[in-house]
Amino acid sequence: MNVTREMFNEVMVPNYNPAAFIPVRGEGSRVWDQKGDEYIDFAGGIAVNGLGHCHPKLVAALTEQGNKLWHLSNVFTNEPALRLATKLVNATFAERVYFCNSGAEANEAALKLARRWALEHFGEDKNQIIAFKQGFHGRTFFTVTVGGQAAYSDGFGPKPGGIEHVTYNDLAEFKALISDTTCAVMVEPLQGEGGIISPDPEFIKGVRELCTQHNALLIFDEVQSGMGRTGDLYAYMGLGVTPDILTSAKALGGGFPIGAMLTTTAIAESLKVGTHGSTYGGNPLACAVAEAAFDVINSPEVLAGVARKEQLIRDGFAAINAKYNVFSEVRGKGLLLGGALNEKYQGRSRDFLVAATEQKLMCLVAGANVVRFAPSLVIPDADIQEGLLRFEKAVAAVVNS
Ligand SMILES: *Cc1c(COP(=O)(O)O)cnc(C)c1O
Repeated sequence: MNVTREMFNEVMVPNYNPAAFIPVRGEGSRVWDQKGDEYIDFAGGIAVNGLGHCHPKLVAALTEQGNKLWHLSNVFTNEPALRLATKLVNATFAERVYFCNSGAEANEAALKLARRWALEHFGEDKNQIIAFKQGFHGRTFFTVTVGGQAAYSDGFGPKPGGIEHVTYNDLAEFKALISDTTCAVMVEPLQGEGGIISPDPEFIKGVRELCTQHNALLIFDEVQSGMGRTGDLYAYMGLGVTPDILTSAKALGGGFPIGAMLTTTAIAESLKVGTHGSTYGGNPLACAVAEAAFDVINSPEVLAGVARKEQLIRDGFAAINAKYNVFSEVRGKGLLLGGALNEKYQGRSRDFLVAATEQKLMCLVAGANVVRFAPSLVIPDADIQEGLLRFEKAVAAVVNS
């Protein structure tokens, strides 16, 4: 069958608007399309391909497990799931793990757990969930409503209730809202989709203290910030603030779908047999790939490399900006970086993305005003340099257009 981009408009639901070319192969941080054109990948499958494309250790784990056992359902447990859960528990604050298939599912589980925990320990009045404007937690109806962009949750009828939003990094506003009827606070310890916004240290510490004071569970959504992205295994480690529940997905499987919710033994008690579940969650194939990804990422070499590569990209941004003056600041941490466009280029992040694509560079946006990079954590320095050269040409094209 001759597959073309036009077919997308004929056979797919129109909720996406993919690029004009169709990638067919990837290796490391390079991707090739149907015509054989080569792209540098600064997008990493939206912070998913933490080890680039077709990392040999992941391919080995996938093929080995693929020849053994793919799926059983949760009527049975399996070795890869138990090994991966043990590694996650050993490396984090958590004592218990629940596996699912995506970030939204991990957050859905976290929110349902928090509601059930509050009901069991404090009664039905303690059901308020506080989240943050511009936050993003997935697209199921519960998670998209907890997310802080009404544009994503409007237009689908009545929303799940008991959910309030306050301004990220505004501790006073948060303090004024939280009370003993708050059951959970869901927050990204580095807002991704919302524009690459780092938390102020006093804000995130204050949120932790107020949650403790009011017996509200603090849920860190580390779907994007986790698995080495910031240079720590999870961003909470770099902040020195420990949540009660943490959700992980995206780079957890290095490109294979998997999500996880991590919590303590005491909180996990509330998800008794039959209270929640997933047909595919924790299947041996996904867990085997994720275990291989975990082993590579949770190593001093890879984690230390993130900060070094961050500096290379920041230097590149600075040099480009010195010439073309398009960014007001470069935000983020590790290899989750955003160039915030200055006054003159407000609302035009997509123009930069399109121009980058024309220069054979894959990148991302985070809203209308931020150009986002989320490359592989092991992207070779030479690919960073080449990608920056292409990005400079893209910036020049937008500025001179
Ligand atoms: C991507 C993302 C999600 C949603 O993950 P899916 O796998 O698309 O369901 C949730 N939270 C954050 C912070 C994300 O970046």
